[in-house]
Amino acid sequence: MEVSSIAVDESVSTVFPPEVLRDALAETVDTAVVDAGIDSLEAYDAVVTMAYHESYLDDVNWIHSIQAGVDRFPFDELREHGVVLTNSSGIHGPAVGETVVGYMLSFARRLLPGVKSQTKREWSPPEWDEAYTLAGERCCIVGLGTLGRGVADRASALGLDIVGVRRSGEPLDGVQTVYTPDDLQTAIRDSKFVVLAVPLVDETHHLISTEEFAAMRDDAILINVARGPVVDQEALVDALDAGVLGGAALDVFEAEPLPEKSPLWESEDVLVTPHCAGFTEDYYRNVTDLVQKNLTQIDAGEELVNRVV
Ligand code: NAD
Repeated sequence: MEVSSIAVDESVSTVFPPEVLRDALAETVDTAVVDAGIDSLEAYDAVVTMAYHESYLDDVNWIHSIQAGVDRFPFDELREHGVVLTNSSGIHGPAVGETVVGYMLSFARRLLPGVKSQTKREWSPPEWDEAYTLAGERCCIVGLGTLGRGVADRASALGLDIVGVRRSGEPLDGVQTVYTPDDLQTAIRDSKFVVLAVPLVDETHHLISTEEFAAMRDDAILINVARGPVVDQEALVDALDAGVLGGAALDVFEAEPLPEKSPLWESEDVLVTPHCAGFTEDYYRNVTDLVQKNLTQIDAGEELVNRVV
C-alpha cells in the first residue's frame, strides 16, 4: 500500500476541529478536510474519520478511526474491498481513567447531589451517613485493556481494591483478582463500583442486564464508558426504579444523543455525560502520532499498528 494523501473527514469535529488534525498531518502528507457524505475521496489514499461512509469502500485503501471502538464499521465488506481499518486503541487510558475516578468521587463525596441542589439554589447538605471515602471500596473493572488499566491505575492510587474481568483470566499487576467472563456475576457481586470498559461485540451486547443487576449490591454504582448497548438500558432503568442499584455514571447510551424523554436525565442517582469521557486537548495529537507511526510502518513494509481489518 502507498499513502501520499490523507483526507480528514469532517465527522472528527465531534471531538476536535478537523483543521487541527489536517495541519498536524500536513507536515508529513498531502491532506485536506473533506465531507465524505458530500465530497468524493477518489483523490485520497486514506481517510481519518469518526463516521463510516459507504464511499470509503471504493475510494480509499486505508481508514483510520479516531475512536477505539469500531463497532460502526462493516468488517466483512471492508475485507472484501481490500480496505484496511485501524483504530485509536491505546490513547484513551489517562483521559477516561481520570473521568472514571471523577465519577466515583462525585458519588462518594456527594458532589452529584450537591451540583443538582446548586442549580436549584438549595442549601442541602448530605445526611451524616451518605458521604464516604473511596479507600477500601471494591471496584470491578470489566475489560482490562487501555481503558481498564487507565482506570485501575488511578482508582488503586485512591486506595480502592481492584478486581477485574479479562477474557484470558490471567493475573495483572495492580488487580487483586482477575476473573474470566464466565465468572462475571461473581466478579461484580461484592463491588461498590462496576466499571465497563469492553468493546461492543456480539458477546458483550447487553452484558449487563436484569440478572447482573440482581447479582450486584443494592448500593452499587454502575459506570459505563464502553458503549451503550453493553448495558440493557431498560433493565438499568428498572433496577434504578426498584432500588436494587445505588446509581450509575453513564457516558454512552443505546441511543445517542440520549433522547430528551429518557428517564435517565432526571434520575436522582444518575450522572450523565455526553460521550466525552475520552476528550482531552491532546486528542488530535495522539491520533496524529498513531497515523504517523503507521505511515512509517507502511514505508518500512511492516504490519500496521492497531490494525482491526
Ligand atoms: P482495548 O482494545 O485496549 O481494550 C479492550 C479490552 O477488552 C481488551 O483487553 C479485550 O481483550 C477486552 N475484552 C473484550 N471482550 C471482553 C469480554 N467479553 N470480557 C472481558 N474483556 C473483554 O480498547 P480500549 O481503548 O480499552 O477501549 C475499550 C472500548 O471502550 C472501545 O472499544 C470503545 O467502544 C470504548 N471507548 C469509549 C470511550 C469513551 O469516550 N467513552 C473512549 C475510548 C474507548
